[in-house]
Amino acid sequence: MGGTFDPVHHGHLVAASEVAGLFGLDEVVFVPTGAPWQKSDRGVSPAEDRYLMTVIATASNPRFSVSRVDVDRGGPTYTIDTLTDLQRQHPDAELFFITGADALAQIVSWRETDKLFQLAHFVGVTRPGYQLADGDLPPGAVSLVEVPALAISSTDCRDRVRRGMPVWYLVPDGVVQYIEKRGLYRGGPSRPGEVL
Ligand code: ATP
Ligand code: MG
Repeated sequence: MGGTFDPVHHGHLVAASEVAGLFGLDEVVFVPTGAPWQKSDRGVSPAEDRYLMTVIATASNPRFSVSRVDVDRGGPTYTIDTLTDLQRQHPDAELFFITGADALAQIVSWRETDKLFQLAHFVGVTRPGYQLADGDLPPGAVSLVEVPALAISSTDCRDRVRRGMPVWYLVPDGVVQYIEKRGLYRGGPSRPGEVL
């Protein structure tokens, strides 16, 4: 499961857990992005902070792990590179790529979609506020699954911290404490052009 994870929240964790259960996955690897080009219009938190929050959030689940492939590669993350690196590290694994309804809608705009679908089976999960559809994607390339609806987004979590509102129970406890310790999301707009 790739993501910016700025910060990781319970929507990510529930989606991962549900797909792992439905597909009988041995492991879910969370892969925080490098500098994501889709979001280059806002300052994304340092990769190390996003990586560490993801480690904190997943530490208690023996089937969850975090990969540094995109963080260590640096620069903008392309899912084709993520999957290629993961396949190299786990040559015998059957790979699945878990993605929310909003991100799935952008798949068609990704590079090299044919190769992407050869590398992994894509699983699109429901997300409140977005329509889940596989559109023009090749038949059989993507499974669409319904996961328990959590209307949580990282954007809203950042907004809340900036406004002094709580993020308890939206993100894992350790992530609340990490945000506080590092002073993340205190200043600046959470969305491009936002008036503070
Ligand atoms: P931002 O608001 O910064 O875009 P986000 O909440 O969308 O953050 P991302 O890191 O962009 O989180 O998302 C990583 C992946 O998790 C994407 O595939 C996204 O669709 C999915 N996802 C995020 N939140 C949810 C949610 N509440 N329910 C289901 N899927 C989600
Ligand atoms: Mg997002």
